[in-house]
Amino acid sequence: MSRRHAIDPALFVEQITAHYPHERCHLDWDTTRPWTLLFAVMLSAQCTDARVNRVTPVLFRQFPDLEAYIAQPRELLEQCIHSTGFYRMKARNIHLTAEQLLTQHRGTVPDTMEELTALPGVGRKTANVILWNLYGKNVGFVVDTHVSRIAQRTGLTEQHSPEKIEQDLMRQLPQEAWGEMSHRLVQFGRDTCKAPVPRCSTCFLASSCPKRSVEKSR
Ligand code: SF4
Repeated sequence: MSRRHAIDPALFVEQITAHYPHERCHLDWDTTRPWTLLFAVMLSAQCTDARVNRVTPVLFRQFPDLEAYIAQPRELLEQCIHSTGFYRMKARNIHLTAEQLLTQHRGTVPDTMEELTALPGVGRKTANVILWNLYGKNVGFVVDTHVSRIAQRTGLTEQHSPEKIEQDLMRQLPQEAWGEMSHRLVQFGRDTCKAPVPRCSTCFLASSCPKRSVEKSR
């Protein structure tokens, strides 16, 4: 990858960290039931955290343990998560994942990338969120639409697939920062490096960012 038009990775980490010192996962979950984070992340696909946070209190009351996802009708689960979109597919994946957690992991959420991505509907992005937030493990970098966009505009990647963008970020950013940086970047993408029009005029990275593919900014 050409680095001629890329932001300095060390400066990038330093500046983002300075501006977002305490950023965290915005999904609500119950620390006494770790699977609630896994299901909240699964529900957040193609949906906002705010909407998921409105749905999960009802869902986790109706389905208080993993056994409930097996015992109760799938239609009830679909009804509970309907407003998060793609509800049939999500209900199927959550149902099957609950089953696998009970039969293969003694009701716990596994702590390896291999075991997590073997669960129905769990890809690297979800697994990375779980590994960092449940176990403090920096195995990979969470790449969502915000992270992809920022990485491309700052020149940290020229790639378009989440897998390749993740590889570029893992190569350039320090491993101990991966988990926290991904949460910081999501917030930075929400309030400054926005889609489709970034707020470059007030951005703290403006003097060092190449603003790649930015045609219009505020
Ligand atoms: S808002 Fe503009 S200057 Fe800031 S990171 Fe995004 S593209 Fe670069």
